[in-house]
Formats: sequence, structure tokens, C-alpha cells
Amino acid sequence: MTADLHIHTNASDGKYTPEELVMQAREAGLTYVSITDHDTVAGLRQLISHRVGLKIIPGLELSTDLANREVHILAYSFDMDHPQLCSELEKIVEDRFLRVKKMVKKLNSLGYAVDYDHILEIAGQATSVGRPHVAKALVERGYFKQVGDAFLGLLEKNGPAYVPHYKMSPETAIRLVHCAGGIPVIAHPGLIGDDSFVLHLIQEGAKGLEVYHPKHDQFQTDKYLNLAQARNLLITGGSDFHGIQGRFPERLGEFTIPDALAVALAKVSLH
Ligand code: AMP
Ligand code: ZN
Ligand code: FE
Ligand code: FE
Repeated sequence: MTADLHIHTNASDGKYTPEELVMQAREAGLTYVSITDHDTVAGLRQLISHRVGLKIIPGLELSTDLANREVHILAYSFDMDHPQLCSELEKIVEDRFLRVKKMVKKLNSLGYAVDYDHILEIAGQATSVGRPHVAKALVERGYFKQVGDAFLGLLEKNGPAYVPHYKMSPETAIRLVHCAGGIPVIAHPGLIGDDSFVLHLIQEGAKGLEVYHPKHDQFQTDKYLNLAQARNLLITGGSDFHGIQGRFPERLGEFTIPDALAVALAKVSLH
């Protein structure tokens, strides 16, 4: 009985549709999953009328815009139709399109002949567009071998073609999730690279820690497990699956967490 509480669909920067992912999850024997797209619940909505025989916990991964850090706030078991949440998400995804336009401008002035329409074509039906779509365009145009190389050279935080996200602080993101009746969780705290900031976010109302994440080593996993237990926080985890070849995990079911952790989050579930 295993769960995966961090999965991206093609509503943001994942490869597969929500329906395909649910099928894959079922085949992998998962019992609880959460779709956690960047700044959108469009993928999740597609599953409302899709009866599949496994528990789907409403999820979301909010991007924030700190100057020197990448902080993601996961949300679980919130009201998907909460008016304030919906209107914020609308503004954020609209800004993501503008952001891509700005990245195209920067890239053009750096001599990279990418165009906005090509990126939109690559993004397909994504509601939430972002750097991975821009990186794919750079690869398709032959500038880089792999998406990761485009990030390294250009798109990384504060890199030459980087454009910040919509202005939302992690503290505001945490408040917004509470407001929508959900559980705010600090995503991959090990990638924040500053535990005093993690403690600050707990102070600000984060109710869970994503202890289990493929980019955490054993030391980080143990450290955040201890922290979560000491602070009485929910313990979450998941694969952060995007369906990208060469990036672990390559398949759903390769990185899972015990069901019991998902049960605690499943205050509200679609099925
Ligand atoms: P965005 O929200 O548009 O800033 O894009 C962030 C997403 O880009 C992350 O969630 C990852 O999926 C992806 N990403 C970030 N860094 C890298 C990297 N070095 N290589 C490949 N993908 C990356
Ligand atoms: Zn992503
Ligand atoms: Fe993340
Ligand atoms: Fe993620």
C-alpha cells in the first residue's frame, strides 16, 4: 500500500495527461496519489468525473518569487473552487505567459532565435507554462542537447534569460492555502538550502514538510523527518514525477511513500 503525493501533469510541465497518470498509478499499484501541478488545478479538474478506483488528494505546487531562493509551497486537500484561490491562480498563470514572453525577449537579445508561438506549441494544452517549455524550444532549435543544459547556461535562477515568477511570497502562499481550507506543506525543503528559512516558514503556518523527495539524500530525509516529528508537522513525500527521460524517477511507482502518510492528508478527496 503505497502513495505518491507529488506528480506533475501536462497541465503544467509534466509529459502525461492526468488520465494517463492515473492509469499508470493504478498499474503501479499506488493507492493514494496527488496531482500537484505548478500553479494550476486544471489537471486535477479533468479527474473529477474520472472514476478510477484510487484515492486522489487535491494538490497544487505554488511557486514563490524570493530574490535568492526557489521556494515551492505544496497545498493539499483544499477547496478547488475557493474564489480567492481561483482568482489568484488565474492571475499567476496569466503572468506565466507574460513571463515566457519576457524570456523570449531576453533570449532573442542574447542571440537565441526562439519564438513565443513555438514555445506555446511545445506547451500544448498546458495551463501553466514555464521554463521547461522554453528549455525544450532551445533544445529543438539545436542550441542545447538536453533541457538541463539550457537551464544551466541560461534559465537557472538569476541566469541571463531568467525572469522572476509572479510576485507572491511563501508567507502569502501559506496564507492562501489556509484560506482555501487546505494544508500548506514546504516542498523539498532540502532544495531551499537554508534551514533557518524552513523554520521561519513553519512559524508562518506551514503544516507539513515534504520529507521524502527524490532529490533528498538520506541525511536530509532523516533530518527533515526528525524536524517534522519534533514540530508535530504532517510528513509528506512524492516522486515529483514529470515523465522526463533520464530524470529519476522515470516511472510512477519507483518512488513512493507509505499509505498512512497520505491518509492524514486525505481530509478532502475526490473519490
Ligand atoms: P518554472 O516554474 O517555470 O520556473 O519552472 C520550474 C520547473 O523547471 C521545475 O519544477 C522543474 O520541473 C524544472 N527545472 C528546474 N530546474 C531544472 C533543471 N536544472 N533541469 C531541468 N529542469 C529543471
Ligand atoms: Zn516542474
Ligand atoms: Fe518543486
Ligand atoms: Fe514539483
